[in-house]
Amino acid sequence: MNFELTDDQKAMRDQLRALLLAECKPEYVRACDEEERYPRELFEKLAAGGWLGLPIAEEYGGSGGSCADICVFLEELAWHFEAAANIYYTSIIIAADALQHFGTEAQKKALLPKLARGELRFAFSLSEPNSGSDAASLRTRAVREGDEWVINGQKMFCSCAQIADYILMMARSDAQAPKHDGITMFLLDAKTPGVDIRRLKKLGLKPMDLNEIFLTDVRLPADAIVGAVNKGWRNVLKTLDYERCCLSAVNVGAAQSCLDKAIAYAKQREQFGQKIADFQLIRQKLADMDMEIDAARLMLWRSANLVDRGVPNNKQSAMANLASSETYVRAALNGMRIMGGWGYLMEYDMQRHYRDSKLAEIGGGTSEILRIVISRELLR
Ligand SMILES: Cc1cc2nc3c(=O)[nH]c(=O)nc-3n(C[C@H](O)[C@H](O)[C@H](O)COP(=O)(O)OP(=O)(O)OC[C@H]3O[C@@H](n4cnc5c(N)ncnc54)[C@H](O)[C@@H]3O)c2cc1C
Repeated sequence: MNFELTDDQKAMRDQLRALLLAECKPEYVRACDEEERYPRELFEKLAAGGWLGLPIAEEYGGSGGSCADICVFLEELAWHFEAAANIYYTSIIIAADALQHFGTEAQKKALLPKLARGELRFAFSLSEPNSGSDAASLRTRAVREGDEWVINGQKMFCSCAQIADYILMMARSDAQAPKHDGITMFLLDAKTPGVDIRRLKKLGLKPMDLNEIFLTDVRLPADAIVGAVNKGWRNVLKTLDYERCCLSAVNVGAAQSCLDKAIAYAKQREQFGQKIADFQLIRQKLADMDMEIDAARLMLWRSANLVDRGVPNNKQSAMANLASSETYVRAALNGMRIMGGWGYLMEYDMQRHYRDSKLAEIGGGTSEILRIVISRELLR
């Protein structure tokens, strides 16, 4: 049993931290949030430093990081800028993972090196207006006509579609098959005629765009698919545990950021003639936050370790996702309590965590769905 990062992981984290302290200052994060804009400059710096290739194998131009390495990276990035970590996850990790597992050799050679260099970005589109938690009941239809697929339908809640070159889009390619067996993952060039991407307004994570997508007679070549026809649901299931680890790492990093900000504030704010950090009720909140974050991090490390060893970990990764997301929401709430009225002001960062944290309890499965996954394993 080992509860420590490796020396290489510590060195990687320290190198990344130095870059982020220089290039991702709090004022920059605030500006991207207020202006609701993609942090292009930061991603250029990450690309120049080789960080975008971390989830990509060396033979395709990346550095071939393990799941544990990627979690260390995401925790650090989320500590500085949570929305950037979510964008990294959505626009790079999901695609790198899908292409490496299910892409053809030609797709890997054409797309992965560009992804690693920051020349391409992806989005992933599964949800629809009538299919969220029950994602496999999606209705967007793909019909084969000669050498082409013709796609019609509407997708909902697609993050990063505005900045994406390609969208990994799930559509129903066999309407007669049982619902999990008739779905295909399409490689949709976002500029294809008939694709209409519209931005949705939302509560938090403002630098990451969220969209609905209307698809009207969208024509794709027959080979614009990732994986096998009608087997797209397998793509989703195969990478789910790994992706839940990644989301957990984002949650842990952002929750730690709340705690560190709350401690800094409590140590300087005075009321009743003393620092508020000396009030027992404030200390209790800090202690609870620290304990919960630590527990979530340990669960995350366990799941990442299982992923890297190829051991099934559906329950453990769901637990890490659930614990870390609810921990983050509580950390942001306690951070707001500790800051009193000041936390409510837009000039302080705690309100951003308060707004951003809520998505953690939705993406990768809602808290209810994650509890269902855990209890299903218990009752097997
Ligand atoms: C900011 C943001 C970004 C997103 N990005 C993406 C993206 O990039 N790509 C993508 O495909 N999707 C994305 N999503 C969609 C996200 O995955 C869904 O919102 C999520 O799966 C929940 O679906 P829903 O919102 O339709 O809620 P619903 O599934 O309608 O759920 C409503 C409520 O019912 C509960 N519920 C549902 N089923 C059960 C059950 N069996 N038992 C008990 N309770 C249940 C839920 O937990 C929830 O409380 C994003 C969402 C948001 C808000």
